[in-house]
Amino acid sequence: MTPEEFSAAGKRVIEWAERYLKDIETYRVLPDIKPGEINKRMPDSPPDFGEEFDKILEDVDRIVMPGITHWQHPKFMAYFASTASGPGILADIVSSTFNSNGMVWKSSPALTEVEAKTLEWYRSMLGLPGNFKGIIYDTASISSFHGIAAARDYKFPESRTKGMSSLPAMRLYCSEQAHSSIEKAAIALGVGIEGVRKIKVDSEFRMIPAELEKAINEDIAMGIDPFCVVATIGTTSTTSVDPVDAISSICRKYDLWLHVDAAYAGVTAMLPEMKIHFKGIENADSIVSNPHKWLFVPIDLSVFYTKRPETLKRAFSLVPEYLKTEVDAEVENLMDYGIQLGRRFRALKLWFVIRYFGVEGLKEILRKHIRLAQSFADWIRESNEFELLAPAPFSAVCFRAVPPGLKEEDLNKFNKLLLERINSTGELFLTHTVLNDKFTIRLVVSGIRQEERHVEEARKVIKREYETLLNNQ
Ligand code: PLP
Repeated sequence: MTPEEFSAAGKRVIEWAERYLKDIETYRVLPDIKPGEINKRMPDSPPDFGEEFDKILEDVDRIVMPGITHWQHPKFMAYFASTASGPGILADIVSSTFNSNGMVWKSSPALTEVEAKTLEWYRSMLGLPGNFKGIIYDTASISSFHGIAAARDYKFPESRTKGMSSLPAMRLYCSEQAHSSIEKAAIALGVGIEGVRKIKVDSEFRMIPAELEKAINEDIAMGIDPFCVVATIGTTSTTSVDPVDAISSICRKYDLWLHVDAAYAGVTAMLPEMKIHFKGIENADSIVSNPHKWLFVPIDLSVFYTKRPETLKRAFSLVPEYLKTEVDAEVENLMDYGIQLGRRFRALKLWFVIRYFGVEGLKEILRKHIRLAQSFADWIRESNEFELLAPAPFSAVCFRAVPPGLKEEDLNKFNKLLLERINSTGELFLTHTVLNDKFTIRLVVSGIRQEERHVEEARKVIKREYETLLNNQ
């Protein structure tokens, strides 16, 4: 592609992106498509000779678009609705244009230094102390993997050289509500699913510290070595908050690594009125917060902080001859802090987003989302036909329909059907969880394009589909 062709095609891509984002509300949020349909639209073999760029772009609309679930749609209120802002999207183009690989400082000095400085900014935005060092990974799953790997190395440094067969049975603790990525990390690190002990939660889905301590003592008595506790601030199902302060005291008492998974809710630490949820976070050994979830940075970008970078480095640093440089004693080489060698310039996305919106601008958007979610929760609370199934401390609301006259044993079926109906309209996308055996619908407000009218429209869709379902029963 010549520079002139690049420029012409690039303009068309930007125009395409502009049109897509402008027209986003004209799409169904969920595509009306069956498995395999997109695959069938593509030829079985690749082209032997190059094709026109315009033809490729046309096929994005023709082949790809019909199978897109529109995460950028303001009525995507499923999972943790994550959206990409304009500056974040454009930063991705800059990053790909450089195509820098930040293996070591020398392989891209700016990548290493922009990442370090941006994460210092982000750390101060979140109010974390200066002794936390940040590093960017792709996802929270990988951040937590590295936190747990460092925890394993902290307690069992010989795991690096001798492997797991040299070690006693070890135990990691998290609540019943912790994300599945914690167990996945345990699988990958040789701790195993049986090495994870899930601690009971209270009526608000928060880990019970006394149960944690009891479990630790039981394990010690059985000859099992506790090594790590994962507390969550903003669990995936309900956004409940584990009592990190109390948990951190237990960790200190037993010398256990405390990893805090704040993948979704972590961004709200920048709001003084939300600080109450982050009590004791400064006692953590490691923390994950995902700007790609609720800070309008395009997926993927997960920030990991640790107070013990030397332990993380000890766990992962392995330097082959060809990667040694003359400045190694003076610089940070990012490859030393994780499993991956090559890494792209993700920090640019966060740097662009923080600079474009400013800290106050970002806070304003987060506050709006929390306000809108709270107004939706109030609507549920005041209704006779719906009920809240969990507190809503952030911007996710867990609820279900409770039509008068319907028995408890029929409610799960009714709510499942209701969710299917809502999603099949294409007007709104919500997802579910199960809480205390109750099928639970979740609505999340965390998208950059979400305004009051979208939440109002969501309420109308929910109410309309509820009434239709009730009339059809
Ligand atoms: N932790 C929590 C609390 C989450 O809610 C999620 C996903 O929603 C994850 C971890 C995993 O996130 P990722 O997709 O970035 O790995």
